[in-house]
Amino acid sequence: VASDILAALRATLGNDAVLTGDAIGPRYACDATGVAPKLPLAVLRPRTTEEVSAALQVCNAHRVAVLPQGGLTGLAGAATPLGGEIVLSLERLTGIEEVDPAAATITVRAGTPLQRVQEVADEAGYMLGLDLGARGSAQIGGNIATNAGGIRVIRYGMAREQVLGLEVVLADGTVMTSLNKMLKNNAAYDLKHLFIGSEGTLGIVTRAVLRLHPRPAGILTALCALPSYQAVVDFLRHAQRALGQVSAFEAMWNDAYRFVADRRADNPPMPVTHPFYVIIEHAGTDLEADAAAFETMLADAHGQGMLIDVTVAQSEKQARAMWVIREGVAEWEAVVGQIHLDVSMPIGTIGEFVEDCRGRLAARWPALIPTFYGHIGDSNLHVSLAPGTDDAGVRHAAEQTVYDTVRDFKGSISAEHGIGTLKREWLSYSRTPEEIALMHRLKTALDPNGILNPGKVL
Ligand SMILES: Cc1cc2nc3c(=O)[nH]c(=O)nc-3n(C[C@H](O)[C@H](O)[C@H](O)COP(=O)(O)OP(=O)(O)OC[C@H]3O[C@@H](n4cnc5c(N)ncnc54)[C@H](O)[C@@H]3O)c2cc1C
Repeated sequence: VASDILAALRATLGNDAVLTGDAIGPRYACDATGVAPKLPLAVLRPRTTEEVSAALQVCNAHRVAVLPQGGLTGLAGAATPLGGEIVLSLERLTGIEEVDPAAATITVRAGTPLQRVQEVADEAGYMLGLDLGARGSAQIGGNIATNAGGIRVIRYGMAREQVLGLEVVLADGTVMTSLNKMLKNNAAYDLKHLFIGSEGTLGIVTRAVLRLHPRPAGILTALCALPSYQAVVDFLRHAQRALGQVSAFEAMWNDAYRFVADRRADNPPMPVTHPFYVIIEHAGTDLEADAAAFETMLADAHGQGMLIDVTVAQSEKQARAMWVIREGVAEWEAVVGQIHLDVSMPIGTIGEFVEDCRGRLAARWPALIPTFYGHIGDSNLHVSLAPGTDDAGVRHAAEQTVYDTVRDFKGSISAEHGIGTLKREWLSYSRTPEEIALMHRLKTALDPNGILNPGKVL
């Protein structure tokens, strides 16, 4: 049967678009989680929407599972084959189709790397509101399929907020082209939202129209030390009131800051003794006036006791050194094999959540080291656990403890990375039975044969 399908796909797409056997490199076996890699039956590499449609028609007719793959930077296992699927890689469906300066939009093909879209937007005098550490490899289609967040969410929203129009190929090969450029369009259901964040289970994104924003004149960055979680929240609201907006607000509990500072050769930009650290960024339009307002805002916060210490970056190099600490948490976690969890809850309760979670973990595993940090302005907390053991049972039980606490605090088990395979067993912690039942009905309506990325999300 497999050979029939592959012959049909070769006849439809041409030989060079269908990889099998040794031609399938290890990169198609796993996403960035590195968990349970498995090679797919074949890899399809279509160049056009029409080829994606033709491929899906063949696979749907043969009832064979199709796994869409973007840049494979996902952190939920959603792009990792489970066995027996045909991977449909978007890697050759690349390119920018148009920048429309009047509408302030950019129209892109799904396989285009995020960084390329950012660069073209920048050359045109605009800025894309989406940015994340994996920008060089992650594709726009993957960003949309995961509704990626990242470091600009507090100012511009998640990937969903950047998408005005979408072209999607449905499981049966139907091409739904809806390349809308209007901010307002209430002509019945806004179908694009079904596909954004659906992790390849409802359709394959082939093109998108994204909003662009004016490019800021410059970015002001400061590293702050704070005495308590309440001060972190007060400082966020104070900064937003004083400046109108902040473009990034990243908090680190002492353990996260110390975790990186202790592992780096150079001196950290601030001593490791403070309870909390925040990196705050303000993207302005008038460098001189903005810098003055930024300094006044910080001085006021210091005067009111929200800040213990503050350093304003005087150059891009100094700003980079501050971000290196924040981005270093994730990098070092990978090196030391930590469990990395991505949760969210109402911002006012995060401080209490951390203390409760820390207490529950310490009671069961005194040697386990947790670290906490995140895009706090977006109510997003990253929890990392160094269990000090490879024992799968202990690792799972520790994750379970964190998710139990998330459920008790009415939070979400996935803030921005999605469900994939890694969080499937806990979906009911954050969605009601009625919500999950409706998700199943949507899945059945759009993909009655269940060929799109089976075994993921639901
Ligand atoms: C260093 C690093 C930093 C990161 N930082 C962030 C962050 O700050 N915020 C955040 O939200 N995420 C972050 N991520 C994870 C994030 O989900 C991905 O970086 C990105 O959004 C996924 O894009 P991708 O092209 O790599 O998708 P993949 O990993 O290839 O796929 C992810 C999912 O999308 C589906 N998919 C991919 N392309 C398509 C398509 N065209 N149509 C339909 N389905 C598709 C796949 O089937 C899979 O379910 C980070 C990852 C890394 C490695």
